[in-house]
Amino acid sequence: MTVRTRIAPSPTGDPHVGTAYVALFNLAFAKKHGGEFILRIEDTDQTRSTRESEQAIFDSLRWLGLDWAEGPDVGGPHGPYRQSERGDIYAEHCQMLLDRGHAFKCYRTPEELDELRNSLKEQGINRALKHCDLELPADEVARREAASMPYVVRMHVPVDGRVEITDLLRGPVDLDWALVDAQILLKSDGMPTYHLANVVDDHLMQITHVLRGEEWINSAPKHKLLYQYFGWEMPVLCHLPLLRNPDKSKLSKRKNPTSILYYQRMGFLPEALVNYLARMGWSMPDEREKFTLQEMLEHFDISRVSLGGPIFDMEKLRWLNGLWMREDLSLEQLATRLHDWALNKDNLLRVLPHAQQRMEVLSDFAPLAAFLASGMLPINAASFAQCNMDEDKLKQVLQFALWRLEALRTWQRDEIFNALKTLSGDMGIKLRDFLAPLFIAISGTTSSFSVMDAIDLLGPDMSRARLRHALNEVAGEIGKKQLKKLEKAYAALGGEQA
Ligand code: GLU
Repeated sequence: MTVRTRIAPSPTGDPHVGTAYVALFNLAFAKKHGGEFILRIEDTDQTRSTRESEQAIFDSLRWLGLDWAEGPDVGGPHGPYRQSERGDIYAEHCQMLLDRGHAFKCYRTPEELDELRNSLKEQGINRALKHCDLELPADEVARREAASMPYVVRMHVPVDGRVEITDLLRGPVDLDWALVDAQILLKSDGMPTYHLANVVDDHLMQITHVLRGEEWINSAPKHKLLYQYFGWEMPVLCHLPLLRNPDKSKLSKRKNPTSILYYQRMGFLPEALVNYLARMGWSMPDEREKFTLQEMLEHFDISRVSLGGPIFDMEKLRWLNGLWMREDLSLEQLATRLHDWALNKDNLLRVLPHAQQRMEVLSDFAPLAAFLASGMLPINAASFAQCNMDEDKLKQVLQFALWRLEALRTWQRDEIFNALKTLSGDMGIKLRDFLAPLFIAISGTTSSFSVMDAIDLLGPDMSRARLRHALNEVAGEIGKKQLKKLEKAYAALGGEQA
């Protein structure tokens, strides 16, 4: 048997460091066993999936050197590797489950589902909805069918009892069927849910080992049951510990930048980031901190993964990156890295249209453009004094602008401008006054290129990181209560967070 592993990201939003972390371990596991690592795009959520996001996943994983043998962009014998192109396969498999009586059509309306859940609660019954709850009399089913009412296909799930799944790192894990709902397999728009598509694809793509984030462990009973219903062998499961913020909470963009593109933009070396991700819950036999991807692949042993939540600590990553910079790059190589990273003609040509009018001598360029090549700027609460805005308003402007920019799917000057203009209007603040604090957060000063040009040039990751940095400088770490208040005020303006 050839070992085959996969990374199966959903292309929504920015490429996440957690995706790179899971990809790295899947790659290492496959290589260790002389097997193959493949990439599949799970884009069944058509409203949130984008091609830009998919491309960013390819680019950032490649930047890190985590290459795949099969995938949507490279092809392979088990394609298509994009779930949105596999609709017929899921429909056919769903029909198989219906024919064998393992699944049923469910015509319940959202209101009825709420009622059913409430009624269980009122009776003090703590369990998920099952077939016995959802079942309708045959004539009612016929009536709804005749009226072409929307339906979903759900799987049969035991009402109670225990289910045991085996995890490569944890051994047997005991879970309760009562908490597992009669999972939807096919949505009313005919699209499969993650569970159906994931199981069917892992089988058809001959995946032997599923290494994925710990957050999926509760899905394992449904998957086990689906494998049984189809009569297929289940791949070995291995749930990796989740990356955590230094305060042990799940890694989130509120506390740490999570986009791989941010780390690229910030000037981390890909080999250092991979090295750091490899240290998340895993260690080399000799415990050394600095090693290459190749060295990891040679020494990889999944049993050395420890389950305690690994902390993603930016300071530690910077330190490691510094080691790589100093110990592994000649001056010649460092010069090449700087050139490729930002100091190249293409980049200059993007900046110069904004700088030329403001320059008298060439040396004017450095102070004008320094903010574009910097990481976080040396600003603090006092930097915003000239904005004439009280602290509460200032926090709102920074936070709301950040939320608005996080929700943008593409990064185009006009779109950014319209989004911020609408927001300032909704907040009842003059555009000029509204943009002033953003200007300082983004450029560190108000005497630079226009803030819109700066945001456009900096790109989404660095712009958002700078806004967050400014917010932290002004507001300190925002507590839960304050966050709730801000969220409420934002929602009142019709804002939706990404
Ligand atoms: N599409 C899922 C994700 O985005 C894949 C989970 C899995 O690996 O099964 O993480």
